[in-house]
Amino acid sequence: MKLNSSIQYIKGIGPKKKKLFNNLGIKNIYDLLYYFPRNYEDNSNKKYLNEVNDKEDIVIKAKITKIELKKIKSNLSIVKLVIKDERENIGTCSFFNQNYIKKLFKENEDVYIFGKVKVFMNKIDIQGKKIEKAFKYENQENLAINPIYPLTFGLKNEDIKSGLKHVFDNNTYIQDYIDEDLRKKYKLCDLDYALRNIHFPKDKNSLKIAMYRIAFDEFFILQLGLFYLKEENIEKESNLIFQTDRTKNFIDNLPFELTRAQNNVLKEVYEDFESKKPMNRLIQGDVGSGKTIVAIIALLECAFNNYQGAFMAPTEILAVQHYEYLKEISSIYDINVAILKGNMKKKERENVLLKLKSGEISIVVGTHALFNDDVEFKNLSLVVTDEQHRFGVNQRKKLNLKGDFTNVLVMSATPIPRTLALMVYGDLDVSIIDELPPGRKKIETMAIKKVKNDLAYKKAVEEIKKGRQVYIVCPLIDDNEENELTSVYQLYEDLKSKYFKDEKIEILHGKLKNKEKDFIMNEFKDDKIKILIATTVIEVGINVPNASIMIIENSERFGLAQLHQLRGRVGRGSYESFCILIYDSKNEVTKKRMDVMEETNDGFIIAKKDLELRGPGQFFGLKQHGVPELKVGNIFKHIKILNKAQNEAKNIIKEDSNLKSNKDLKIEIKRRFDLDKENMIVS
Ligand code: ADP
Ligand code: MG
Repeated sequence: MKLNSSIQYIKGIGPKKKKLFNNLGIKNIYDLLYYFPRNYEDNSNKKYLNEVNDKEDIVIKAKITKIELKKIKSNLSIVKLVIKDERENIGTCSFFNQNYIKKLFKENEDVYIFGKVKVFMNKIDIQGKKIEKAFKYENQENLAINPIYPLTFGLKNEDIKSGLKHVFDNNTYIQDYIDEDLRKKYKLCDLDYALRNIHFPKDKNSLKIAMYRIAFDEFFILQLGLFYLKEENIEKESNLIFQTDRTKNFIDNLPFELTRAQNNVLKEVYEDFESKKPMNRLIQGDVGSGKTIVAIIALLECAFNNYQGAFMAPTEILAVQHYEYLKEISSIYDINVAILKGNMKKKERENVLLKLKSGEISIVVGTHALFNDDVEFKNLSLVVTDEQHRFGVNQRKKLNLKGDFTNVLVMSATPIPRTLALMVYGDLDVSIIDELPPGRKKIETMAIKKVKNDLAYKKAVEEIKKGRQVYIVCPLIDDNEENELTSVYQLYEDLKSKYFKDEKIEILHGKLKNKEKDFIMNEFKDDKIKILIATTVIEVGINVPNASIMIIENSERFGLAQLHQLRGRVGRGSYESFCILIYDSKNEVTKKRMDVMEETNDGFIIAKKDLELRGPGQFFGLKQHGVPELKVGNIFKHIKILNKAQNEAKNIIKEDSNLKSNKDLKIEIKRRFDLDKENMIVS
């Protein structure tokens, strides 16, 4: 079987199952092989009663000699078994609140019991987790370490297991991209072994060996890939001559004072400008901390020094907003500001391109369209990327190549741990805006269950009466039968008739034409629209200070950092502001995540909790950003493996920067990085 064949070639997977597999992101054999278990059920620790230790998880084969049901309290009952193992050792076993066991099993029956040992006054009691009739385990394979996969409705764990078994049994050739010398050097098993044992571990040790290899690969390919992508960006000396006090007048005339934190960051930016080294700086600052004005000052500094700057935003809506603000705030100065958009007339666009090339335009704002091949600059010297976490690595790279020598300033509200920053950005300097502008009030946050959503919309009505505006966010655009999530269109119908009969209410999502988006956003800014029902297109950057309440449907579907970003759309003026998170899940983790949102408004704390609750891979949405996911590797737990992989990647790139003599690795990088695809996020 070829790794890129469709999973439909696997025995037992017909069109119906294929669709379910596809829902899990599994399209070909390769995807299936890399669909790792989320956990394992260890059925391999088979013991006799005289061998067990306290608190150990074990499996016992035994005969039931007595079975009875004891009611302890109204909400607590125990099925108590007396058991005898194959060596005639006697013990007991308790199952809490599982009364059906009494009906299903009889005395004298042979069973397998899975549970935890509890020794009390020299007596052994097994706290049972599972009990099964013995014949089910005649086939000893079932007593192995059993993989547990994340599933989707309609697909069973067994389906994934048997698909994989079929692949492994059919001599699928899994070629290793890491050669033997390197494997020896880092004590790595080969890839075939790793993949077989991460799914069907022979024993605990094999699983450990397999996971080590998989984790190493994840770090190694990620790091090597990033080095490889960066390789063209050879460091050059700067010959730009900057005089960095030309914005003084501009700053003095701002309608507000810069905060201490903003001033500190600006100082660091100026130092970069004046030094001979290219600027490579990340500005981290919580939502609403005022990153935009810092970026604008840096861009103006360039313009006043007769260099060009580019300001790149992840969505067109945000680009338009930045452009308008920049134009307004710099109108008294003699500089040209332009925007490049998707829906421009050909003539208009050509005009901008011409003036960029001639240097007539000093600052251009836009989305990733800024790095189309036809966009040329005269002397681009600063690229600012807003909301960095929303861009793919490839995209950032492309724009940096447009200037002979380009200073790079990226801005993000999502704090990134040092180790990962190093991986993703290489040698990046970090500035932090650790303070909000004065006068901001805490955004009151409340999480409520879906059945109580009436509360949320009544609150919205109240806010509108006070003259404020409302954002409502849902995960979906259209209704989708297979899905129970709330959609923008459905909600629009419901809410309009029920709560907002007399108010102007509009819809905003990524599939609308750019013109329509601009129009709606402007109407909302001008307070002509009172309620905006949107997808996460409004997640980043949008600044409408009169909006005071954010309602998020199906909050359980969003990451904490994302919820925090969305919440950051309100509380941007001096009004008391609110965020109501509606959730539809009984999941414990969801509850915990909602608690975090209620308790704190601090993006750094939220990010840390999010990392704890979801793990780094999902937290950064690595895959969406064109960076391969870390499924097994954990940048917190596997620091040693990470360091080894990073060092080796460094060695290789030093010797062979183009990976000419490492073809297999290069292929693997391209595959994992999805290098042939665009990786912009569309909300
Ligand atoms: P973010 O860091 O989330 O991008 P913005 O740059 O959009 O935040 O700033 C949020 C709001 O705060 C804007 O309305 C901006 O004009 C305002 N602002 C920025 N800096 C200050 C300041 N020093 N004092 C008062 N308001 C400020
Ligand atoms: Mg911003």
